[in-house]
Amino acid sequence: MSGIGDLPSTQWEFEQRFSTEAGCIEYLRRQRWPDGFRCPRCGGGRAWALRRRALDQCVSCGHQVSLTAGTVFHGTRKPLALWFRVIGQFLVSKSGWLGGGRLPPARAQVRDGLDLVAQAAQ
Ligand SMILES: [Zn+2]
Repeated sequence: MSGIGDLPSTQWEFEQRFSTEAGCIEYLRRQRWPDGFRCPRCGGGRAWALRRRALDQCVSCGHQVSLTAGTVFHGTRKPLALWFRVIGQFLVSKSGWLGGGRLPPARAQVRDGLDLVAQAAQ
């Protein structure tokens, strides 16, 4: 399962980061391109980063790459911020990861949260 890594270690940070659509998209973008954008069609290294849609468009050839492809968020019509809120609440309930406390959720719990969203998003 991709798209798990690099989560904040507190609930507060989580909510700060994923409360807006742009924040969620930015997260997915970093997961997708840890070393920066690379166009799968032409190999170009620059893209127009769309802030309101989870989509990158290659500057060189115009190829569009969905940032949600291959993730549990693929195909959902609901806002990403909504799904991240569900995940956040799930993590709080499962891990005792309460505001201010530094108790990062276990990887397995994050995975369970993503599974939950994957089912709900069908
Ligand atoms: Zn390209």
